[in-house]
Amino acid sequence: MSVEKKPRLAVIAGPTAVGKGTVVRALLEKYPHVYLSVSATTRAPREGEIDGQDYHFLSHEDFEGAIARDEFLEWATVHKVNKYGTLKAPIEAQLAQGVPAILEIDLAGVRQVRQQMPDALFIFIAPPSWEELVKRLQGRGTESAEEMTRRLETAKLELAAKDEFDHIVVNDEVDRTVSELAELLELA
Ligand code: 5GP
Repeated sequence: MSVEKKPRLAVIAGPTAVGKGTVVRALLEKYPHVYLSVSATTRAPREGEIDGQDYHFLSHEDFEGAIARDEFLEWATVHKVNKYGTLKAPIEAQLAQGVPAILEIDLAGVRQVRQQMPDALFIFIAPPSWEELVKRLQGRGTESAEEMTRRLETAKLELAAKDEFDHIVVNDEVDRTVSELAELLELA
């Protein structure tokens, strides 16, 4: 008889444009029972992004209100401009129902979750090389030159912290990366 295991929270981080979003979307397509946390952010929606699906897009005022009401598991100011945060209630509800959950957050957020949920699985998605990361960011073409510079500065700090994670997964090719993640999350 198999022993029922407690579902785990997987926390995924990695530098800008490493392909975290693409990899996580592909993972969810393959394993639709996994719950992906929808973060709140003060950033404006990019073209095609849907409120409540990609993010909960909040005003600065509403975000501050949620902080004051202690509704966040973690929150951080990312790339020095906008606030991003994970709401506690939906994550706790999913885990309580036995559903494995994924958070895709920045390094400051990772450190907060580690304090509160040390049993979570912490995974860093790394680029094959620095040059490849710059190429992916330029290729995306969604950020201004100033924003790209700021994101690359943050990326250097994030890459320097990769050893804080339980696992480092190099995103060299989406399907391969998804398989590796599925094994780590014990979905495969
Ligand atoms: P983007 O603006 O490109 O959608 O996201 C920028 C960064 O914000 C991502 O690298 C992601 O790691 C981080 N981020 C997204 N949601 C959250 C969150 O809920 N909490 C924290 N701490 N960071 C987040």
